[in-house]
Amino acid sequence: MSELPTTLESLITTSRALGSNDTLVMHGGGNTSAKGKLTDILGRDREVIWIKGSGFALDTITAAGFPACDLQALRDLRSLDQMCDEDMVREVRATMLDTTACTPSIEALLHAFLPHTFILHSHADAILAVSNRERGESICRELYGDRVVHIPYIMPGFPLAKAVAEAIDANPNAIGALLHQHGLFTFAETAEEALALHHELVGLASDQYDELAQVVSGDATPRRHKASDILPMLRAAVSQDRPMVLDTRDDPWLLAALDFPTAERLLCTPALTPDHTIRTKPWPCWIDANDPTAAIAHYGKMYSAYVCAGIASRGERTHLDALPRVMLVPGLGLVAAGINAKAAGIAADIAEHTIFTKMASRELDSYRGLPDIDLFDMEYWPLEQAKLASFSPRELEGQVAVVTGGGGAIGEGVARVLLEAGAAVALIDIDRAHVEAAADRLDGPVAAIVGDVTNETSIANAMDTVCHAFGGMDIIVPNAGIAYSASIESQDADLFRKVLDVNLTGVFNTLQSGIRVMRRQEMGGSVVIVSSKNVLSPGAEFGAYSASKTGAHQLGKVAAMEFSGDDIVVNMVCPDAVFSCGDNPSGLWQQIGADRARAKGIDASELESHYRDRNMLKTLITAEDVGRAVLFFAARRTPTTGCLLTVDGGVPGGFPR
Ligand SMILES: [Zn+2]
Repeated sequence: MSELPTTLESLITTSRALGSNDTLVMHGGGNTSAKGKLTDILGRDREVIWIKGSGFALDTITAAGFPACDLQALRDLRSLDQMCDEDMVREVRATMLDTTACTPSIEALLHAFLPHTFILHSHADAILAVSNRERGESICRELYGDRVVHIPYIMPGFPLAKAVAEAIDANPNAIGALLHQHGLFTFAETAEEALALHHELVGLASDQYDELAQVVSGDATPRRHKASDILPMLRAAVSQDRPMVLDTRDDPWLLAALDFPTAERLLCTPALTPDHTIRTKPWPCWIDANDPTAAIAHYGKMYSAYVCAGIASRGERTHLDALPRVMLVPGLGLVAAGINAKAAGIAADIAEHTIFTKMASRELDSYRGLPDIDLFDMEYWPLEQAKLASFSPRELEGQVAVVTGGGGAIGEGVARVLLEAGAAVALIDIDRAHVEAAADRLDGPVAAIVGDVTNETSIANAMDTVCHAFGGMDIIVPNAGIAYSASIESQDADLFRKVLDVNLTGVFNTLQSGIRVMRRQEMGGSVVIVSSKNVLSPGAEFGAYSASKTGAHQLGKVAAMEFSGDDIVVNMVCPDAVFSCGDNPSGLWQQIGADRARAKGIDASELESHYRDRNMLKTLITAEDVGRAVLFFAARRTPTTGCLLTVDGGVPGGFPR
């Protein structure tokens, strides 16, 4: 790999510094560029501009995120009178030195038309806080004077690029451009200077308000409502088209902000900048916790009117759903919805900054957002609509799965398969260290929750935490289990009771607390009990385990009968011995391995080969094998309930009868 040009190197360093400050840049709300020279394949010096590519995050960006474009070719485009967005994207791509690189930012022309070497752009909270005011423009002019050019809101694209370039032509000494209701650009000949200017100008804006302390440091308002009482209903209300994941934020300052006397009037206002509408919709929805779903219907009517007005003015567009993405529930918190946990998290981050910004500057002047049509232009931008159309949801996209015994080997394997299928996964385990370690090894949206299945209060609290993390649940996998190996004659009665407590009562507690949430949610669901091959084919000196697992298996069949009216299916998977999941050894087998080997008259080191060789397919069952069987039922690939699936490589003694 050849050495990076120093200009590009300092662009990367500075971009990361800018991007790692979330009051400046959040989720794609910023971009950067640098101009320099590059030697092409023919050995010619080319004047290029490196521009942040779309889809890259500034805080972690690398050279791959900065496609190089021919600078003069981009500047030549300025001679056009107008250019539509589709033409602009195509023409910008045509100037790329490496056409296989990512597409440059939609603000590429703006960067290219300006003369400066380094250009940094952010949607800084503080800039939006002062510019989104009745007197926003005069406040900004008082603050910055002619140091920056002031540009009224224009949607990103060719006209905005030309407007900024013309303003800089008229004021060539300007060090920045303030794009009202959008963000800030700073320019300089070195990256460090551009960043220092950025911080200086943003600092001047944030000095304008310090009332924030009053909201933040006020007496911490405790959460008044339980997550599991309200969120499952909200989740159902916003999941009319597809299952949505909810992300709830309830820091004390946020709860205090939502209890502020004029909070609804102040916060149910337009987004800080139209860019946010793609994630948050134009405005949040204010929710009364006593009647959580009524406001959502009202929101739908308002939103439909906004879309109809937009279409009447701009022409036909693909209608998006009329459901809110941000709900503000006093006493509970800010609740964001998304097609998956990542999307919900992005909406929640943006909404959190939006509330902070609107509250922080509430004394300055009244908040003024953009007119609906500007919000509509961004939310229904054909380029954005094309992105949405290209999204293909995975089988469990938007669904939430709960796995008990989540720190164990099978729990981790099941979680891995469900995550790959698109679900968000809550792991519940009695052992904090185990469950957190398992969550760390997994990729994707995972919540590690401590809960004891033998204690009905503990498991109900854990289910409440699941609702807080993801809004509700669609899939429950009772999997927590323990075992001891002993003959009936020698079995310690307390240990027998303990096994029943975890393996049978634990499943009962999980089913009871889970069904209460699922019923409130009214979205149907799937329960998959991790049963055992042992239920079909018990082993000597394994009475407590066999009896407890068989009891849970039977309980599952009863649950199938009781839950079917709510469209909740209950099925069982029956694995044979699973010894580990990657580096996570099965706690159960660590406990019983030596005794089971003794009962079978073999050495403990021969256990794995013993279990492999006793099945017809001569296969060792893995945790992911169990996970795929769970997925089969969880995804409801076939309409069945009260059913079982063996995962044992074929053991004739364990054939279901
Ligand atoms: Zn921007």
